[in-house]
Amino acid sequence: MDFLSSRAKLLTPYTAGEQPKEKKYIKLNTNENPYNPSPKVAEAISFAAQNLRLYPDADSSELCRAIAQVNNVQEECVFCGNGSDEVLSFVFYAFFGGSEPLLFPDITYSFYPVYSKFYDIAYETLPLNGDFEIDPSFYLRPASGVIFPNPNAPTSVYFSLEKICEIAEYHKNKVVVIDEAYIAFGGESAVSYIKKYPNLLIVRTFSKSHALAGMRVGYAIGQPHLIDALRRVKDSFNSYPVDCVAAAAARAAVLDTAYYSDITAQIIQSRDFFAQGLKEVGFRVLPSAANFVFISHAGIPAQALYAKLRENGILVRFFNKPRIDNFLRVTIGTREDMEYVLQILKNGRMV
Ligand SMILES: *Cc1c(COP(=O)(O)O)cnc(C)c1O
Repeated sequence: MDFLSSRAKLLTPYTAGEQPKEKKYIKLNTNENPYNPSPKVAEAISFAAQNLRLYPDADSSELCRAIAQVNNVQEECVFCGNGSDEVLSFVFYAFFGGSEPLLFPDITYSFYPVYSKFYDIAYETLPLNGDFEIDPSFYLRPASGVIFPNPNAPTSVYFSLEKICEIAEYHKNKVVVIDEAYIAFGGESAVSYIKKYPNLLIVRTFSKSHALAGMRVGYAIGQPHLIDALRRVKDSFNSYPVDCVAAAAARAAVLDTAYYSDITAQIIQSRDFFAQGLKEVGFRVLPSAANFVFISHAGIPAQALYAKLRENGILVRFFNKPRIDNFLRVTIGTREDMEYVLQILKNGRMV
């Protein structure tokens, strides 16, 4: 029996990091936050749950307003969706395609090629250099758009805002999207440049820095004509993507800036401690501006290390892909988690 449409046969689905059920791991494989969301989130959820009978606000206006306030932009410049993956899918549909290719780095978030294929968007990947940095001059060529995360995933490397400006300046008539899923962990956001560049769109998520991966809320910030284009796509697909509980949770989170600066500072401290410890036992650790590190060891293949860590109850991410198949991506957990990983690496005589 073959029920699949010819369209569905052509899909290449994204492979998410595993969420194991069989045993308890120290889970450092999907860049989740090791801390709980702000206590104000639980309060907001129980309040919102009293309204489940009703459809939510289709445009998540209160959440947009809170995001706008915290980011110092107008409410009309914010669009919310059901996780940033959904926001990204609307972005691909709204802005990319045509005879020129969409441009993104050869090593980057693996959902970009998936969406490109889903929407039949031609794309070209451009190589990062040996230090996994972007060369903006590669991007100064005809394209239907440009997208990359900053800091990049899975490498954790941050690209300077000058590089982004150079690309946005060149592609005046195309949309340049910066996926800032990890921007809270050290980099400087490009959000202040949306005033200068009508073609610049910033996409963010509550999943990582705001400890709400289970809630599924993401957003985009850009000038109102870009936001209107995203609404146009949303209203042709699902007019109520963000449920009322998720919207209330995300709103409470974004407004509790004190709580989140505190847990973010702790993650940054644990990251720097962990990176230092890894270097002492011979690892190459790429400079990280994210809540994870990208590491390799000349003495032991990444895949073997991945398996050894797994045996010891530690789950990290290994990508069996050209150029990065000797690297592991390790999410930063609590300080205790990171001390334990270092101890296993040393005492298990793995390195
Ligand atoms: C995690 C991640 C996302 C997806 O975030 P969700 O809001 O959970 O869908 C998007 N882009 C990058 C680069 C990510 O790492």
